[in-house]
Amino acid sequence: MIVAMQEKATEEQIDTVIGAMVEAGVGVHRTTGAMQTILAGVGPTASVDLSKFELLPGVLHVHRISSPYKLAGRSFRPEGTVVEFANGVTVGGGKVAVMAGPCSIENEIQILETARRVKAAGASFLRGGAFKPRSSPYAFQGMGIPGLKTMHEAAQAHGLLTVSEVMEISQIEPMLPYIDLFQVGARNMQNFNLLRELGLARKPVLLKRGIAATIEELLLSAEYIMSGGNYDVILCERGIRTYETATRNTMDISAIPVVKKLSHLPITGDPSHGTGHRELVAPLARASVAAGADAILVEVHPNADKAASDAAQTLYLDQFDELMGQLRLIATAVGRTL
Ligand code: PEP
Ligand code: MN
Repeated sequence: MIVAMQEKATEEQIDTVIGAMVEAGVGVHRTTGAMQTILAGVGPTASVDLSKFELLPGVLHVHRISSPYKLAGRSFRPEGTVVEFANGVTVGGGKVAVMAGPCSIENEIQILETARRVKAAGASFLRGGAFKPRSSPYAFQGMGIPGLKTMHEAAQAHGLLTVSEVMEISQIEPMLPYIDLFQVGARNMQNFNLLRELGLARKPVLLKRGIAATIEELLLSAEYIMSGGNYDVILCERGIRTYETATRNTMDISAIPVVKKLSHLPITGDPSHGTGHRELVAPLARASVAAGADAILVEVHPNADKAASDAAQTLYLDQFDELMGQLRLIATAVGRTL
């Protein structure tokens, strides 16, 4: 259930409503927007008499949520979520954020050069995997925490934030000092134990759509994180597996406006994993911004052909510069900045 409070509702009135919801046996999640406070009741709400809440002072309206996700649904925050980071960076507002870097952190020279160039081009996040989910157990598995330290230093040197994939619960704590945004990879989108634990972590989470997940399943996975109290979730469309073999995955551009309609959470477009081919990354990045993406995640590497992982879909730094110029024009055309 959703209880939307009136714009001028007092703290006392809000507390009274929360008390009544708790008494009715539902869990309460509160969000305070620019215009009003919204209280979402989760749990056994089917038997709750909503009319009782409509009569409480300060209440604007009360309704049941028919979708299975309550906190990730648009009605929890009708105005949209803006996730705030250090350096004044936001994801979900008027500015499209760019996250760029290699698939895997490989060494100091690689990550420093990448940091310098992506910052100069206008990115705000440096990405790089230290724990890599590889299809083959014999493929490069990532540098682990020492790699994250290296990436963090490179990011600090250039005023960038960091994003990196967390694959299991035991990695959350040791990663905390080095990352600003936890990435949950496609293969872990339904690792519910990991999602629950990230719900308790007080750092934002970039949740990638599973390889064969529906949009509803993506939003339910976001709900797992949010139900723990961590509302700073950024979704990511990174392509899904279809019968098409010309591309690594099928980049579902339509997921971007669909998610915007169903949810208040920001959505990122990842055209690198979405296509698997270097020459297709720019067109699909442009399409993502045109479709309303709040952020773009792209793989770039100073020596892209020799990247330790995902070389075929990795942009050269010059290609990234060119792409940023194009994205700037498209962002402006759709009423955003970059
Ligand atoms: C990645 O970002 O390098 C990655 C492994 O992504 P995904 O989980 O989308 O495959
Ligand atoms: Mn990759």
